[in-house]
Amino acid sequence: MGCYKNAQVCLNGHATTDDTTNTALCSDFCSLCGEKTITTCPSCDAPIRGRYHVPNAFGRMSMSYHPPAYCHHCGEPFPWTQRKLDAAQELVADMEELTMEEQEKLNKCFPNIMTDTPMTSVSANKIKRYLAKLPDYAGSCLRDIFVDVMSETAKKIIWPS
Ligand SMILES: [Zn+2]
Ligand SMILES: [Zn+2]
Repeated sequence: MGCYKNAQVCLNGHATTDDTTNTALCSDFCSLCGEKTITTCPSCDAPIRGRYHVPNAFGRMSMSYHPPAYCHHCGEPFPWTQRKLDAAQELVADMEELTMEEQEKLNKCFPNIMTDTPMTSVSANKIKRYLAKLPDYAGSCLRDIFVDVMSETAKKIIWPS
């Protein structure tokens, strides 16, 4: 039987630690970007899920930790998730290659590539089609924004490697 440790994450989504009982790693601000760090969901105060701890299990330290996109308790997007969506929308708003209607459709796809839902592959394929019309930097910016939080299904469709 395992349980989740509590993670500390900055508002931009950098984890300072995946286990807040390790106080040596905790800090009020992020050393990578200077943002404030949080350990609970701003909407409902539930602890942010960190490392999944299994007592007496070896080899668990090798797993890399990515902060969750949504709160497991209230379902709200975490601040870093919202910031990623905002950044993507900002990028799309500059794309003169797309009509307003196309920009809107593209923006609606982004939340669906961050988690696995029935809409994930539909949205990922739409994004791929739009990217074909856009300059290369649009694709690499989007990749930088979402790479840590993307569903594997979406990643394989948009950026097969
Ligand atoms: Zn940070
Ligand atoms: Zn919550």
